[in-house]
Amino acid sequence: MKIDSDAREHARRSELEDSIGEAQAWSRHLLEPTSDPSWRLLAAPYTPALEGQVEAELALGNGRFGMRAVLPFATPVAQPRVYVAGLFGQPPGPVLTPVLFTAPIWLYLYLTIDGEGVSPEAGELVSEERTLDLLRALLIETLSWRSRHGHLLRLQTTRLASQAERALGIVYAELAVDRPALLALETSEREVPSLPLELVARREEGVDSWRTPQGRHWLAMTHDAALEVRGQVLRPMHTASGMRWQWRALPGDRARFTQFAAMSRGDGAQGEETSRAAALNARHFVLQQGMAALLDAHERAWEQHWTASDVVVEGDDEAQRALRFAIYHLLSAANPEDDRISVGARALTGDEYHGHVFWDTDVFLLPFYTYTWPEAARAMLLYRYYGLAGAREKATKLGYRGAFYPWEAADTGEEATPQGVLGPDGREVDYPVATKAVHISADIAYAVWNYWQITGDDAFLRDAGAEMLLKTARFWASRVEQGSDGALHLRGVEGPDEYHLDVDDNAYTNNLARWNLARALDAAEWLRARWPNQWSALQQRLQLTSPELETWRKIGELLVTGFDPASRLFEQFAGFSDLEYIDLASITPPSPTVDLVLGQERTSRSQVIKQADVVMLLALLWDTFTPEVRAANFAYYAPRTSQGSSLSPAIHALVAARLGDVSVAEGYFRWAAEIDERDIRRDTSLGVHLATQGGVWQAVVLGFAGLSPRADGLRLAPHLPPRWRALTFAAHWHGSCVRVTLQRETRTMTAVLEQGPSLVLALGDLEHSLEPGARWAARW
Ligand code: BGC
Repeated sequence: MKIDSDAREHARRSELEDSIGEAQAWSRHLLEPTSDPSWRLLAAPYTPALEGQVEAELALGNGRFGMRAVLPFATPVAQPRVYVAGLFGQPPGPVLTPVLFTAPIWLYLYLTIDGEGVSPEAGELVSEERTLDLLRALLIETLSWRSRHGHLLRLQTTRLASQAERALGIVYAELAVDRPALLALETSEREVPSLPLELVARREEGVDSWRTPQGRHWLAMTHDAALEVRGQVLRPMHTASGMRWQWRALPGDRARFTQFAAMSRGDGAQGEETSRAAALNARHFVLQQGMAALLDAHERAWEQHWTASDVVVEGDDEAQRALRFAIYHLLSAANPEDDRISVGARALTGDEYHGHVFWDTDVFLLPFYTYTWPEAARAMLLYRYYGLAGAREKATKLGYRGAFYPWEAADTGEEATPQGVLGPDGREVDYPVATKAVHISADIAYAVWNYWQITGDDAFLRDAGAEMLLKTARFWASRVEQGSDGALHLRGVEGPDEYHLDVDDNAYTNNLARWNLARALDAAEWLRARWPNQWSALQQRLQLTSPELETWRKIGELLVTGFDPASRLFEQFAGFSDLEYIDLASITPPSPTVDLVLGQERTSRSQVIKQADVVMLLALLWDTFTPEVRAANFAYYAPRTSQGSSLSPAIHALVAARLGDVSVAEGYFRWAAEIDERDIRRDTSLGVHLATQGGVWQAVVLGFAGLSPRADGLRLAPHLPPRWRALTFAAHWHGSCVRVTLQRETRTMTAVLEQGPSLVLALGDLEHSLEPGARWAARW
């Protein structure tokens, strides 16, 4: 047995070493970032206080796993994380909510020079430059380090999360010294102490198996590495958790090191087997394809993503940078191959919110995916479909019917919002958002309908979406209360504005609930006419009768909207207009966390709003309001909104842009862009604000370009900022793909149908049937 496994190990290693032996050929362009600066994100040189922000902003990911951009070796300030999507479990201790467990850290290089450990604290970090190559999704780093004994080490590394084979992460490094020295390099798997997984079986066929504490999920991991010095592949020593090489380095030598890790999650009873098989497959993939082919496939996959999703702004480098940053993180977060997971509020870039999924995904991210990567959008909506059981259970527990989706969701579809949270003063406060923020059900319904409108994915609506619309509608029908005024109300809710926690008739919620009821009826009608068999099966399964549907129609009519025809304003909730008005401009220093300045109590009794609420309603149901109503509500609510949530500025930018108020829109747009870029909320170290990034894309494409769907195609209503010479982007509609360029000065639009059958494109009052390959130029 022993001989057998030794022989296997030998064969395995020599395959990897063959591949690494060719490193000279493929590694050269790997250490050089793309030359065009608009594709590069350069971090400030290593500064302990900024490290968390840099690690999050330059993080790599492929939707299946994500890794923070830590230095190649451990430092006291680092928050090294390799997150594996969906690896949720209940941690031991007081937090009664599932959290995302992290994989053991495999990417550190433990280096010594003449016995002296390499780290910024020992010796001197002479220079350090980390660049995220957005185009190829490579993290490229060059550093020089001087030991206490005066040795100068030059280390260049490149890391990636493969987009071609999502289980794979790769580290490539080159090392050189300025004088003879004994170098030792060790790799190892080390766990993040705060989140230890349970290790189940070690090193069977080189694969380790781990599981989350309750055993719901498994992680299989295998990693391997090879080192070549002066053209020779060196034999490693195997240690308990990795490998170790030692060699005498000479000036002028270049040691080349290649490492990969294959990580795979498995779920449920078969999880151990499926995860091991997937990790082994990924390993075979590296060994069979070789590193060169693997890198090539990764770059090609990213090229395709950028072709579909890039937004090009001419004349404004800052806006361009913000957009590429946003799109990079959106593309890194999604995985169309796995519909059992979705994208958390900080994606896989930081610990905040434990990897939980919020309305952020459905309302802020999905428009991007729906228009540019429909397969990813579909997977995220199917995740919500599988969550229906949990949503139903939540509704039942609270005495309602239908689907009341969790405010925070993890892996099972059950409510995952922590019970109590720490308030600004550090004391635990009751956190009723899970039961109050009922709008989550309508948010998901909105995402379903919008996805269907834009993609024309009838099979999705037939097999999953219609049921989601019907069950969320049923929830609203059970949640409304009859008032003494004869109207229906939604009482005791929390709208998007989290400064007002328990209100009646939040306009955003009520209007989206009405809309949800109406779309459920539309979906029922569509299914009945188009797929009568599926309709009757669904009707039976849901025990849905015609009288029940009829009540939905009536409820929609009777549910109050909060609209006052005289002022044309929606009242954010009943009694809002009687609250204290506080001039936000008078608060010094100006702070988005106004609740801290004023105190929670006073904030809740004032008209100070945390984030877009009625403005959010304008953004989502834009077409249903008159121009006067849109303008009046934006003018009233924007000055009352403190932008206390990172979700808010981009939505204000979007609405202001659609209103044609371009300079106001630009101001909000820059605010949104700076949330992560300048870390203005001081919490980017906990992860990139992905909803903000989705909002940045929306502000530009849905706001400044004014893109929206119509029954037979797409519509544009551009309002470009004065500095922008041109704006180019692509959008999918019903399997077709249109690329649009808007030139501001000449007010000219050029559109080309790059893929799929013809569709109608509208520009203001003009309409044109765009034929495959043909170009349409028009002026607005
Ligand atoms: C916002 C919510 C958001 C959550 C996660 C909160 O601060 O108010 O709307 O869903 O953050 O991003």
